[in-house]
Amino acid sequence: MTTNTSKARQNSNIDPTLSVNPVFVRPGEATEFDKFRMPEQPSLPETAYQIVHDEAILDGNSRLNLATFVSTWMDDEAKKLYLEAADKNMIDKDEYPATAAIEDRCWRMLADLWNVPDTKDTIGTSTIGSSEACMLGGLALKRLWQEKRKAEGKSTEKPNLIMSAAVQVVWEKFCNYWDVEPRYVPVTPDHMVLDGHELEKYVDENTIGVVAILGQTFTGAYEPVEAIAKKLDEIQANTGLDVKIHVDGASGAMVAPFCQPDLVWDFQIDRVNSISTSGHKYGLVYPGVGWVVWRNTAVLPESMIFHVSYLGGDMPTLALNFSRPGAQVLLQYYQFLRLGREGYRAVQQNSIDVATYLSSEIEKIGPFELVSRGDTIPVFAWVLKDGHTDKWSLYDLADRLRMKGWLVPAYPMADDMSDVILQRIVVKVGLSRDMASALLADIKGEVAFLDSLTAPLPREASSGSHFHH
Ligand SMILES: *Cc1c(COP(=O)(O)O)cnc(C)c1O
Repeated sequence: MTTNTSKARQNSNIDPTLSVNPVFVRPGEATEFDKFRMPEQPSLPETAYQIVHDEAILDGNSRLNLATFVSTWMDDEAKKLYLEAADKNMIDKDEYPATAAIEDRCWRMLADLWNVPDTKDTIGTSTIGSSEACMLGGLALKRLWQEKRKAEGKSTEKPNLIMSAAVQVVWEKFCNYWDVEPRYVPVTPDHMVLDGHELEKYVDENTIGVVAILGQTFTGAYEPVEAIAKKLDEIQANTGLDVKIHVDGASGAMVAPFCQPDLVWDFQIDRVNSISTSGHKYGLVYPGVGWVVWRNTAVLPESMIFHVSYLGGDMPTLALNFSRPGAQVLLQYYQFLRLGREGYRAVQQNSIDVATYLSSEIEKIGPFELVSRGDTIPVFAWVLKDGHTDKWSLYDLADRLRMKGWLVPAYPMADDMSDVILQRIVVKVGLSRDMASALLADIKGEVAFLDSLTAPLPREASSGSHFHH
């Protein structure tokens, strides 16, 4: 580093300490920073900015990231609001009472959207994402079960939670972090989602609840909450066990109310205790916000609520994090006002239209069989038809598309079907019909290239293993 700097000094007549140096010739930019040791000396802000900015260019282009569920586009007013509100801490409810009031309005709007029986007797909160929201929903189920068991003088040693083997990783984390036994219902070709089939084999007196996923991450499929609830009704009639449901609506809870209004999945079903969603997925906000709402105040154990004073009054809070960004909550409110129900419907329906167009065109290419079509949430997946080729796999297609800038991951299906390799596209606002056509042309071109191979492509053993659901 020192040698580089002195060389730069010798070669230049400009004072190296001055910011009049042309960009990329300044000290700092013309040398290399240590990656793992904080530098001793400060840098000019322009220098530090340029270095961080340039390094981030190496990330993929988020607009071509068809792997993520998380928003990659917001309009200019939202960006303006984001900058204005970047300094707000959500937990400072006393200092930022307006932001606190807006948070309250947002979860109440969601409670209403999800048909809580009584909008005056409900409770909810914003979170940093669905993961925190799911943890809170799961914890409430665990506490409710513990309180009931204690009142009956029974053991609270061995709680279990029932879910599909194709849950998002947050539920594995929940069980691990809070000492709950996960009971995974396997996915099979006949039961790709949790649908109540053989649920009686999993439920016992230690079951704290069942997780139903509205928008499975692997395929986009909805788990039929109504059928799961019916099965739990039967189980209750036979055994007396009253098991509640948390709906993990990370994506679907912000799509179904607008685009599948006749689907019954929410608080209209008595067994649904709580619902969570990601504001930063189809809530259409940049990363950093989630929501959870409970059916009524009685099903959220009082022991989980902390009371902070707020404008001389009492503000109940429940969350795992203390400080977190308030800006995202304001952005959520912005979207609710900006779009309204009709706007959300239009935006999500457009994504569904792009997804179903893409899926049907991908099906027509020939080598692929669709696993889902993108008509629930705008997410669909496909497999390579048996016997199409022994020269290439979906991992190779993912690699080829990546060379064109598109991130279209291939990954194994959940346990029990992990020999099945899927490839998935998540359509979000910002993937226009025009971009979809360009993607389709690239997929067709790469398939033609791969099909022209006369020998299998060499593969690194690790390829395709970096995908997280
Ligand atoms: C994305 C997702 C999660 C995790 O949500 P984050 O907002 O990323 O924390 C949980 N469950 C499902 C079904 C998801 O799709």
